Amino acid sequence: MQAHVTPIPVKIVTLFGAIAVAVLFFFAVVFALAASVQEPLTRLAASGLLFVMGIAIAYYITRKPKTVIQRLEVSGQMKAASIKCPNCGASVDANQIKIVSGVPYATCPYCGTTFEVTEEPKW
Ligand SMILES: [Zn+2]
Repeated sequence: MQAHVTPIPVKIVTLFGAIAVAVLFFFAVVFALAASVQEPLTRLAASGLLFVMGIAIAYYITRKPKTVIQRLEVSGQMKAASIKCPNCGASVDANQIKIVSGVPYATCPYCGTTFEVTEEPKW
């Protein structure tokens, strides 16, 4: 899991997902232990099912939020700092930024140059 950026909406989903995974794994272990007492086939099947569900949710919460994080990260930073066109040096409005496959691009309204917006401000 990458935890360096944690916008609130994503964090809540991830948090509930993590709780669900923990609960599923907990019951998976409980069923696995109970299988040694009686009804081993039924309880092992239930344990395996819970375990698979836990894996699925864990996979879901660690995979999906990535694009959302990138968008929030960019829009949040660009409002704080102004962007300068590398070609003519004009300041570019944050609304000009478009995200193409996870990478933020901005188009200069003065000279028309499209350039990649770096995430770390240089000043
Ligand atoms: Zn320009």
